[in-house]
Amino acid sequence: MKVLVTGGCGYIGSATARWLRSKGVDVQVIDNLSEGHRQAWDGPLEILDLLDRDLLHTYLKGKSFDGVVHFAARCYVGESVEQPERYWRSNVVPVIHLTEALQGVPFVFSSTCATYGEPQAEYLQEDHPQFPVNPYGATKLAAERLLLDRSAAGHGTCGLLRYFNAAGAAPGGDFGEHHDPETHLIPLAIDAALGERPPMTIFGTDYPTPDGTCIRDYIHVDDLAAAHEKALDCLITGGDSGYWNLGTGNGFSVRQIMDAVGHAVGQPVPFKEGPRRVGDPAILVANSAKAKAELGWVPHYTDVNELVATAVAWHRAHPSGYAS
Ligand code: UDP
Repeated sequence: MKVLVTGGCGYIGSATARWLRSKGVDVQVIDNLSEGHRQAWDGPLEILDLLDRDLLHTYLKGKSFDGVVHFAARCYVGESVEQPERYWRSNVVPVIHLTEALQGVPFVFSSTCATYGEPQAEYLQEDHPQFPVNPYGATKLAAERLLLDRSAAGHGTCGLLRYFNAAGAAPGGDFGEHHDPETHLIPLAIDAALGERPPMTIFGTDYPTPDGTCIRDYIHVDDLAAAHEKALDCLITGGDSGYWNLGTGNGFSVRQIMDAVGHAVGQPVPFKEGPRRVGDPAILVANSAKAKAELGWVPHYTDVNELVATAVAWHRAHPSGYAS
């Protein structure tokens, strides 16, 4: 089986590329290395910008893939609010270019719970209304719609995977999360605990949650990788298009995550309390029953301490991420 993975040098993309390769899949990665890291993927790599339609179509001409998994995108909510045009271009146009070139090829898409917007229930199910509250979520939803329209037209099935909070690192500490700038809670809390950054800021302590801080569903990157394999298998063996939430179903507050980081590092996370961050709903927790029932997917990292420990191990082995 030969699979094209776009954005395969990024955090979730490289974890998925490695996971698929470990299952015997012939993986070809495309990445423009704008956000990804060459060291994150040591297999076949084409350095190419998906916004360059001619270059992409020339590259794909005559090649055949059993499936495509598309990660390449921009993924910062705050940045998307400031630069919406850039997000619409980066997150939607590549999907058009890929689908034009890969008629009939099953397409697994890296989507997000941010497509739902403000939650109207404690646990989000796939039939929750989709009214994104930031351009990041809106662009991911637009790409979802395009892929569903393509599927309805008979031009190829799609699997839309709506991640909750991707977190953690490969067991063994060889591969992990490295964003520049880093904005995510767990890596920032680890840096603060180790004294490598100033105290972290808790974004909002007046949310309607038990300790006043936001609650999220942290899902290990290898569990996400496994879900992509399941979705690909489903589509390649003739399964119908579908959309699936990927989370553990367990919510943890910012303070609970800081406690877990403090425990794993062996010293508490220094912090200050700050105002809410624009675009952050109070609680986002997945109901992933559909992925379990339809894909046979089961997340293994359900203990948040275990998940955080993998991120700490990666950080200790690579204090400057892939620059180490
Ligand atoms: N958060 C925080 N301080 C930080 C970074 C994040 O309090 O320095 C909070 C953020 O408001 C959210 C949660 O931690 O409630 C997870 O944020 P992250 O950016 O990791 O992921 P997101 O939920 O935006 O995908």
